[in-house]
Amino acid sequence: MNKPAGAAAAHLTNFIRNVIDADLAAGKYAARTWGGRPGLAATHAGAPSDTAKIRTRFPPEPNGYLHFGHAKSICLNFGLARDYGGVCHMRFDDTNPEKEEQEYVDSILDAVRWLGFGWNANGTEHLYHASDYFDAMYQAAEYLVASGHAYVDEQSAEELRATRGTLTEHGQDSPWRARPAADSLARLREMRDGRHADGSMVLRARIDMSSPNINLRDPAIYRIKKATHHRTGDAWCIYPMYTYAHPIEDALEQITHSICTLEFEDQRPFYDWLLARLAEGGLLARPLPQQIEFARLNLTYVVLSKRKLIQLVSEGHVDGWDDPRMPTLVAARRRGYTPEGFRLFAERIGVSKSDSWIDYGVLEECMREHLNQVAQRRIAVLDPLKLVIDNYPEGASEECLAPNHPQRPELGKRALPFSRELWIERDDFMEAPAKGYFRLHPGNKVRLRYGFVIECTGCDKDASGQVSAVHCNYYADSKSGTPGADSYKVKGNIHWVSARHAYQCEVRLYDRLFREPHPGAGGRDFLLDLNPEAKRVISAQLEPALKDAQPEERFQFERHGYFVADMKDSTAGAPVFNRAVTLKDAWQK
Ligand code: ATP
Ligand code: MG
Repeated sequence: MNKPAGAAAAHLTNFIRNVIDADLAAGKYAARTWGGRPGLAATHAGAPSDTAKIRTRFPPEPNGYLHFGHAKSICLNFGLARDYGGVCHMRFDDTNPEKEEQEYVDSILDAVRWLGFGWNANGTEHLYHASDYFDAMYQAAEYLVASGHAYVDEQSAEELRATRGTLTEHGQDSPWRARPAADSLARLREMRDGRHADGSMVLRARIDMSSPNINLRDPAIYRIKKATHHRTGDAWCIYPMYTYAHPIEDALEQITHSICTLEFEDQRPFYDWLLARLAEGGLLARPLPQQIEFARLNLTYVVLSKRKLIQLVSEGHVDGWDDPRMPTLVAARRRGYTPEGFRLFAERIGVSKSDSWIDYGVLEECMREHLNQVAQRRIAVLDPLKLVIDNYPEGASEECLAPNHPQRPELGKRALPFSRELWIERDDFMEAPAKGYFRLHPGNKVRLRYGFVIECTGCDKDASGQVSAVHCNYYADSKSGTPGADSYKVKGNIHWVSARHAYQCEVRLYDRLFREPHPGAGGRDFLLDLNPEAKRVISAQLEPALKDAQPEERFQFERHGYFVADMKDSTAGAPVFNRAVTLKDAWQK
């Protein structure tokens, strides 16, 4: 992929880039070797020096669909690798057997590819699974036990909790803390061999029960869980804890910069402790990876918590994970958001060390900016009202030419059929015009965009008094693009489609999922803040060319916003459209 414009420019500098720049300048990782695949020190010893200047990774747990927050992490990790001549590993952090499924694995890979990133570098696929490292992790655990850095604790879960201490009080040593290494090792092997019940004992690191950092008070590193894993089946009945597994995964993969969200800051001392012990023991190659924390994305008007997203789906508040209202990447794709828009967004919000909120409007503006460049213009009447041109011959028709993109003449023009009866927007007519209303009203002239100037003569009404048709006369010598057309001076310019030629179809007008910037703030049920207007389904009249739109093809519907042919519900010759984003931010207060 190409570098984004001005990648080296100052606006892209951030504290993570500063760390990487300093590390590279100091030659911190220069002596690293790469054995061609992840592994313990022996895999990399004597191997050629690593051609990847840095190694980062994106390590999702395959237990859900990726959301907009993950997009930030993906753009950051893959973007750094790209900009620094490095490699970003795609790694499934699948050490927890119970919540993980192949469905999520597939959708995660799709989402990363869709965002424009890949994990193939010089012919090597850097697609990894933490579960492939279970042997190495177990070997490391035996080493820690043998070297006195870990022990099997047979206290109950209740006792473990009670002796952990608090923020102000030390923890208390377990009665099993001083047991001989050989004794712990025997028990660990029994655990591995399935001889003990879930929860009956755990393997703990032996660090410091009086540390002010609770994470260093002999954290559990392995637990018994007689569960079937989606990749390793029943090969294991003990599984590593996340905080133990993650640093080892990084080290086996020779990651240089392990970038994670701020809540792991307090885990960094354990990360460093663990890797230092294993390197001392010769199990891991130096230099060791370093963990760097950044602020996660918090976005207004949506929720990014997996638990809340699951609730929205399971309780039917939305129509599944890919409902275009959802802040997931599968949903964004259906909605018509673009990968380029997400990458622009990630670049624009940058990374920082402190939590903050990003306004949803920033994301929308990034989508607009990209869509404005790429989307061809089309005409759509979303709230149709009939317009009859009384002095236009019945049965006749002709073509008007409309540019496909006002700033990109190379995209050419297309023909819009014009005839006696047109559809216009209901709000482009007012029988009794408000002050300053320049569009259609009796006695007023407007230009039909790319067509003729017309003068309104009146309207018909139905029994309930609602306007059912507007009447006008046209000026045959006023056609846009013909000599003399410019001599007509009118203030209003409205869009239209020929009623006889129009393609009538379903259009979904999507808006923000929540009507409050901070859904559920102040302890309120977040569901109460759902925006009932987030999805409106209408029947619209579109210019005929839109009938041939391909799934995922995006357009600007003039005066309305950006729309996409729905990739799921469209059929050949019968697309339905989703609104991605309006032309202007209507939410700004
Ligand atoms: P879980 O609660 O299941 O751990 P998670 O959102 O952390 O959910 P992971 O699959 O563990 O999901 O996340 C993969 C990567 O995405 C992690 O490196 C994590 O730091 C990053 N990530 C997750 N949420 C955000 C966010 N809101 N902003 C930036 N990065 C995020
Ligand atoms: Mg996580």
